[in-house]
Amino acid sequence: MPGRNGPSASLFAMNTVPHSSGTRIVRLSLIFMLLVLATFLSVEGWRAWRDYQQAYASAQDSVINLARATAQHAEDAIRQVDVLTDALRERIEGDGLGSLDRTRIHNLMKQQAQIIPHLHGLFLYDADGRWLVTDKDGVPEGANNADRDYFEYHRTHSDRRVRIGAVVSSRSTHELIIPVSRRLNNPDGSFAGVLLGTIRVSYFVDYYGDFRIDDRGALVLALRDGTILVRRPFSQDVIGTSLTQSEIFKRYLPHSSEGVAEVKAVVDGTTRLYGYRALASYPLVVEAGLSRDSYVGPWWRDLVKTGLVLAVMVACLSGFGLIVLGQIRQRVTIDEQLRLAHQRVREMALTDSLTGLGNRRRLDAELAVQIAHAGRQQAPLALIMLDVDYFKRFNDQYGHAAGDDCLRRVAEAIAGALQKPTDLAVRYGGEEFTVLLPDTDARGAAQVAKAVLAAIRSLNITHQASPHGRVTASAGIAARQPSSPLGAEGLIKAADTQLYLAKESGRDNYTGWPYPAPAFGGNQ
Ligand code: GH3
Ligand code: MG
Ligand code: MG
Repeated sequence: MPGRNGPSASLFAMNTVPHSSGTRIVRLSLIFMLLVLATFLSVEGWRAWRDYQQAYASAQDSVINLARATAQHAEDAIRQVDVLTDALRERIEGDGLGSLDRTRIHNLMKQQAQIIPHLHGLFLYDADGRWLVTDKDGVPEGANNADRDYFEYHRTHSDRRVRIGAVVSSRSTHELIIPVSRRLNNPDGSFAGVLLGTIRVSYFVDYYGDFRIDDRGALVLALRDGTILVRRPFSQDVIGTSLTQSEIFKRYLPHSSEGVAEVKAVVDGTTRLYGYRALASYPLVVEAGLSRDSYVGPWWRDLVKTGLVLAVMVACLSGFGLIVLGQIRQRVTIDEQLRLAHQRVREMALTDSLTGLGNRRRLDAELAVQIAHAGRQQAPLALIMLDVDYFKRFNDQYGHAAGDDCLRRVAEAIAGALQKPTDLAVRYGGEEFTVLLPDTDARGAAQVAKAVLAAIRSLNITHQASPHGRVTASAGIAARQPSSPLGAEGLIKAADTQLYLAKESGRDNYTGWPYPAPAFGGNQ
């Protein structure tokens, strides 16, 4: 008979652990473990990100520095030839090409060529491209450079600045050279010839080769129009090719003469971080590139190593956590089982095994609680004692088993007649039952008694040995005023007395105390 006439919450709440606390501990432990793991992974993730940023920043610094160094180097190399050819121009134009002291100019050229190591040669051509003087001993017979594009340029352009041309193969030594040329004028401003200084490409190749950059790194010296002059890694095929379609020439150089960009090289398709710089004094551009692999690679290898260590640590931590969690779970399960077992024992101790109602112990415990409650709340409290009429005769006539069955059905009828969840029916002993009615006065208790007796009567259990012909019961009611000093024992005794009176007055009825004084009763 679960529900209102089963064990009451007020009684069974004592000494029991709330069911949810175990699950909460497990959940909290799990959240704690996940938090620890998440913190751990976040810190490592942040560290990896910071390392990447540092590697990237350091690669940026490297390419910027490389670009500056190569730019400075190229500028110095060109400037020396610029200054030298300017001085020679001054002298040659001063003397006039017609009255040139060839021996003196040759000696001067030879001397300068020895001083400047990257200078491949110095050449003077007349207005028709014929070789007049060089730094070399002897001029080849019939040599003519009128077909060279720098010659054509100076012949058709009046500007006096030095011009840097695309790489050509030297006609005298067959070396790859960069021509640095300037126009010579006659006193009247007409074209008089060309003065040419040539710089060895190998000078740059050697210099670029000295830098410690990764195998896939690149250093480039190009004309501002994109024509490659020198490139590391060196390949003769690349020299003279154009970079105009490269990202740096297309997108970056038009906006800024110096910068850093991660782009794919047009020459070999490798993605590099490039530092680029356009020279201020000459139409030259340098690019210094480090392959992505060179700065991401070490970071990545480091990340993999750290990741492996981290994975092992996380696995250990998770394993340990799972073991601890398992133990907590086990503990929680044991606690829960203990709690349930404890609850079952309490229920059994307080339950009547025949009818499933509470027993006398249950009544004693609940009565104490309710009397205290009535005192505190100034509430009435009523108790009904019920006794099955002529039950000895019933047993005698129908047997003990039928008697037990009858008691079970009477118990059901009593419990079924109760209305409030706080009402409690117990088997007091034998064929006696008690109904405890908290917050109920004598009038209310009389109604409950009437309903209970009617319910038993309407079971219609035949009882031939009873004058009523069926199983009936009698009830005695004791109602306690809020301020009454009456205790549990007194209340039961009072109800018992009233029960006796009800029996005396013919059974199948109830009498009550104290309303109306001295007693009341009825059977309808
Ligand atoms: P009255 O109307 O005055 O109450 O008469 P009564 O025969 O019911 O009262 P009495 O106290 O003389 O007899 C009670 C009987 O109830 C005695 C016993 O045979 C029977 N009884 C008590 N407990 C049980 C039980 O658990 N099972 C069965 N079958 N009978 C019981
Ligand atoms: Mg009895
Ligand atoms: Mg009886």
